Amino acid sequence: MSGCIFCKIINKEIPKEFRFESDAVVAFDDISPSADVHILIVPKKHIREVGEVGDQDAELLIEVYKTVNKLVKANNLENNSYRVVVNGGFAQHVPHLHFHLLGGQWKKYV
Ligand code: AMP
Ligand code: ZN
Repeated sequence: MSGCIFCKIINKEIPKEFRFESDAVVAFDDISPSADVHILIVPKKHIREVGEVGDQDAELLIEVYKTVNKLVKANNLENNSYRVVVNGGFAQHVPHLHFHLLGGQWKKYV
């Protein structure tokens, strides 16, 4: 969607090093980390918010959580602590659905 910063990152209009990319999702470091590990997992499909997720997105959500799992392992977080956070309403600042993977010490709220 034009004007969406995450769509621009996904379409490579804004350069960004991806930690993971598949046909359906990308993952990259949060620009302002709230934890030792702070990675955003972003579906390539522009879904505005969690309230717009529908039955058609079931496979996509499975892929998101499989990506989380890969990143947990890649960052040795299984034996540390981690959280997956999805913000909504006034707590969401980028209007393109994304999942925060926060690992290790949490420094501030996302
Ligand atoms: P939220 O409040 O859940 O919408 O979170 C948006 C997150 O995106 C924040 O943690 C920001 O630091 C992060 N963010 C915004 N712009 C960028 C960017 N260009 N690259 C990486 N992370 C970003
Ligand atoms: Zn978008």
